[in-house]
Amino acid sequence: MNQNKLCETIDVDDGKVTLADYMGNDLSVVNAARVSFGKRKTELDEKDIKLIKYLAAHKHMSPFRHVVFSFTLEGVSEVVCRQLYKHQVGCSYTSGEFKEAATTWNEVSGRYVEFEPEFHIPELFRKQHTNNKQASNEGDAVEKNTEAQKIYMSAIENGYSAYKQLLELGVCKEQARMVMPISFKNSLVWTASLEAAVHFIKLRDHEGAQLEIRNLARAIKKLIDPICPHSIAALLDSTK
Ligand SMILES: Cc1cc2nc3c(=O)[nH]c(=O)nc-3n(C[C@H](O)[C@H](O)[C@H](O)COP(=O)(O)OP(=O)(O)OC[C@H]3O[C@@H](n4cnc5c(N)ncnc54)[C@H](O)[C@@H]3O)c2cc1C
Repeated sequence: MNQNKLCETIDVDDGKVTLADYMGNDLSVVNAARVSFGKRKTELDEKDIKLIKYLAAHKHMSPFRHVVFSFTLEGVSEVVCRQLYKHQVGCSYTSGEFKEAATTWNEVSGRYVEFEPEFHIPELFRKQHTNNKQASNEGDAVEKNTEAQKIYMSAIENGYSAYKQLLELGVCKEQARMVMPISFKNSLVWTASLEAAVHFIKLRDHEGAQLEIRNLARAIKKLIDPICPHSIAALLDSTK
């Protein structure tokens, strides 16, 4: 059993991610792999660590699916959530569509609840990457950052004001919400197997990924690393 203290909530940009629950650890991977020999360990030793490396290197992935994590994401922009939803295999999601939902672990829908939205406001507007068509340069702000912020805020205010006006006209919530800027902050519960979580980290903590989801991937890694450090290291190493 890993003795490191668990890090439970991490701020990600202007939202946060919490490791709300989990099942299993490095030992669960080992015991799942050894079940065919009728063996069960209670303490991890060097042989087990070797076995974990072997399993990852040879893509014997099923033992890594017996460890499961549940995260709550709060105040994370819908842009990031949309990218996260692309990770399907070994994952399940419950979306909140606004900030408070994840704390109750219930699905709340913008079809029947009026939005009380918050929006992700970047402090820094980054320049386009010079040779990667979809990326930006981390820390490299446009010269007119304040002007960019004004344009951004004005677009958000217009979108939200249009939403309220449509509701006042009697338009149903499910249509009125369509004018909402995609930067609105969402909340969701994401449950993923160890294999799926590491697959996400590998793809999203990568220089080609958007900085905001990269920050999320780094936070997720920090949260789960104390639970199964050997499996995570072996899986990341095997997929280089
Ligand atoms: C930097 C970056 C840029 C991206 N840009 C875009 C973009 O512009 N547009 C866009 O739409 N998406 C984009 N994506 C999302 C990307 O295409 C994937 O949908 C996302 O990364 C999830 O990865 P995945 O499919 O491996 O995950 P999962 O859906 O969780 O699948 C996990 C694994 O299961 C296997 N698998 C899944 N489905 C099947 C299947 N049907 N048949 C066989 N095997 C399967 C594959 O091995 C897959 O890797 C981008 C992703 C990244 C990291």
